[in-house]
Amino acid sequence: MKKLPTKINILGIPYRVKYCDTPEICSCDKEEPALGWLNFDTSVMRVFKGKRSREQIWKTIWHEILHAIFSETKLFKYVGKQEEKIIETISAALPTVKFD
Ligand SMILES: [Zn+2]
Repeated sequence: MKKLPTKINILGIPYRVKYCDTPEICSCDKEEPALGWLNFDTSVMRVFKGKRSREQIWKTIWHEILHAIFSETKLFKYVGKQEEKIIETISAALPTVKFD
């Protein structure tokens, strides 16, 4: 698995990726700790690293990339409350894609 990125360019927008040791730091909602969090104002993606496996961390990175895409393309307007479910499904599927 590729090394964890510190910079990701999504649709021409550069994001910095910061990894943290506790899920709480990543959270924008104090009630519910998040595994990842995208700050659209600062273009910073925070990802909970801790002792999670590379695969789990990559799944969170893909999850946040999809949130950025849904936001930038305004796709979120069409999916509404289903956004989280749709992104969870696609972010789990993307790492399973194999190229020959
Ligand atoms: Zn999400």
